[in-house]
Amino acid sequence: MSESNSVVTRGSIESSSAARFAPRRVDGPHDAPPAPPLLAARRLSKSYRKGRHSIPVLRGVDVDVRPGEFLAIVGQSGSGKSTLLHLLGTLDAPDAGQILFDGNRIDSLPAVSRDLLRNRHFGMVFQFYHLLPEFTTLENVLAPLMIGHGALAYLWNRRPFRERAAELLDLVGLTHRRTHRPKELSGGEMQRTAIARALIAEPRLLLADEPTGNLDRTNGQEILGILRTLNRRRGLTIVMVTHDLSIAEQADRAVRLVEGKMEAA
Ligand code: ADP
Ligand code: MG
Repeated sequence: MSESNSVVTRGSIESSSAARFAPRRVDGPHDAPPAPPLLAARRLSKSYRKGRHSIPVLRGVDVDVRPGEFLAIVGQSGSGKSTLLHLLGTLDAPDAGQILFDGNRIDSLPAVSRDLLRNRHFGMVFQFYHLLPEFTTLENVLAPLMIGHGALAYLWNRRPFRERAAELLDLVGLTHRRTHRPKELSGGEMQRTAIARALIAEPRLLLADEPTGNLDRTNGQEILGILRTLNRRRGLTIVMVTHDLSIAEQADRAVRLVEGKMEAA
């Protein structure tokens, strides 16, 4: 899809800059071979040290995420969901195993390359939003571009960047909150800001750690609705971890993390 196809209409989630996300879908003709995974984990292991003891959290996790898929990973509190998502997002390194993005190994990349990969291709959403309190909503959405481009390049591109951020705030229904600071927002509004921020660099993959975990049912459903729409209509690949089965079952597919291994849910 070309950039010129992404017409922006205010308030419409279907006609936003999200149209620029690669719209590769899982559901092709039935006889087509399955698409190779966009993201894959192979026999991932991770333990934490506690004094003299090593506590295993992941014990050989395998998972494939196909392009255009909305995958939910469910598991009880403490089962290692956040640990796994951090590994998939290269925020932390596994003790053993491999992570492949587009067929290329990413867990063993140097830190600078991992930072670049995250900034360019991964969007991340967390349970507690992690917004910068001194920044407005718009500035929070722009923050990854400020970091990713350096001061000069950012200033040079400031106008199109701000337009893109405004489009994304429109997409998540926050146009009227552009100049508010996080403390003036509700939980649902903070998470919608965090989603807009995660999308600003037009990522190929969205990793979401309990995105509804701190919200009431209505706001949680709204966030799920935004993710569902981004996935269905724009082909954004999403991996979401959650302890909540009613949230997980709204994804295309769910797998379960049990005792450090992956099971069908
Ligand atoms: P979940 O997200 O499923 O609730 P986590 O991945 O946060 O689970 O944690 C899995 C287990 O690893 C828990 O027992 C937790 O206490 C432990 N753990 C997580 N992070 C650390 C850490 N940095 N140091 C030590 N133990 C940790
Ligand atoms: Mg967690």
